[in-house]
Amino acid sequence: MTPASAEASTAVETHALQVPLEKIATETYVPLAKPSLIGLSRAQIAEKLGSIGVKPAQQKMRSQQIWHWLYYRGVQSFAEMSSISKDMRVELEQHFTVDRPEVAVEQISNDGTRKWLLKLPSGTHGERAHEVECVYIPETDRGTLCVSSQVGCTLNCSFCHTGTQRLVRNLTPGEIVGQIMVARDRLNDWADRDTPNANRRITNIVMMGMGEPLYNFDAVRDALLIVSDNEGIGISRRRITLSTSGVVPNIKRTGEEIGVMLAISLHAVRDELRNELVPLNKKYPLKELLQACRDYPGASNARRITFEYVMLKGINDSLEDAKLLVKMLKGIHAKINLIPFNPWPGTRYECSDWAQIEAFSEYVFNAGYSSPVRTPRGRDILAACGQLKSETEKLSARERQALRAMAMTD
Ligand code: SAH
Ligand code: SF4
Repeated sequence: MTPASAEASTAVETHALQVPLEKIATETYVPLAKPSLIGLSRAQIAEKLGSIGVKPAQQKMRSQQIWHWLYYRGVQSFAEMSSISKDMRVELEQHFTVDRPEVAVEQISNDGTRKWLLKLPSGTHGERAHEVECVYIPETDRGTLCVSSQVGCTLNCSFCHTGTQRLVRNLTPGEIVGQIMVARDRLNDWADRDTPNANRRITNIVMMGMGEPLYNFDAVRDALLIVSDNEGIGISRRRITLSTSGVVPNIKRTGEEIGVMLAISLHAVRDELRNELVPLNKKYPLKELLQACRDYPGASNARRITFEYVMLKGINDSLEDAKLLVKMLKGIHAKINLIPFNPWPGTRYECSDWAQIEAFSEYVFNAGYSSPVRTPRGRDILAACGQLKSETEKLSARERQALRAMAMTD
């Protein structure tokens, strides 16, 4: 090896070291001294009751009651659980809480979108309080809540703002369910005795906030099973969509163990480009990803897989790309969701021109695919896709201003 090529290969290696395929969490969850019951299944609640001396014969009934108060009625204290004896409530209060994340900041966009910066319950030594973002998007026929699965993200997609920050840690089931509970608290969206079946404001959930849900599989599964349980929060699995950048081994498990709708962050139709935009593609290339979609348990014409495609000017937005896209989705029950790129300071990408997005969408539509363009929502409060970034890696005031200005200009 010549000195020059040795230097070049060192540079490549250094670069490879700088941009690892996957990041390692810098922290792990430290259980609270007084744990919250939010995020526990019926069986886990029963187990907790056992740990404070509730007799086995009583555990099942008591855990059903607690489940109902927590997830159906949304109470915020044990004192409100009126069907449980006073002594028992005092006992519960001494050992547990019903805490959910705390709203640190609430922002309401001029289009009605709401973004909450949520402080996760903490307080024990060894862990700093972390924050995640959660966004509510009201539309005429539905209300969608965009939920986070990690503080930061394991992956590093080059067009995503969250991808540029470190992975702090996975969220627990309680912290995931807790986001939905806080949103219901703030929107006054719990069923009460008078309006058990009234229309709820949150009708749909999308796991499209910060983080890669399939790199936190168990917690996301446990949380979504609670959220979709009919005797509790009761949001149907058909109204819950999990978005993944393509963690192939966990796609089948998602269908089998959770049974929710699937969205794939595709963004490119050639491996070479996808390796750059979604580096995880080097580990799970397009062919394997598409096969996992073909095999997705429960996919059908009525339950299509959504393919998300961010429109990047001059990068992936040609009609040639549209043609390849249509070709590659043959045989998959698919719909396509085109997302105008939301810029952030320091990004090397630009959003495609509107005429190009329309031409791309028309091509895909004429080939028989539904291809709505996702209207950016809440841009003025930095709530749009890819703009979420927790305070763990704070933006400077100037950066924030620049981001807001960029997001508002097109
Ligand atoms: N990590 C998961 C889910 C969260 S991201 C995933 O990648 O699927 C939700 C969607 O927003 C993904 O399709 C993601 O690719 C897209 N996205 C990320 N950054 C974006 C940006 N700056 N502009 C538009 N969409 C973006
Ligand atoms: Fe993570 Fe999704 Fe952003 Fe990729 S697009 S870095 S997987 S949040």
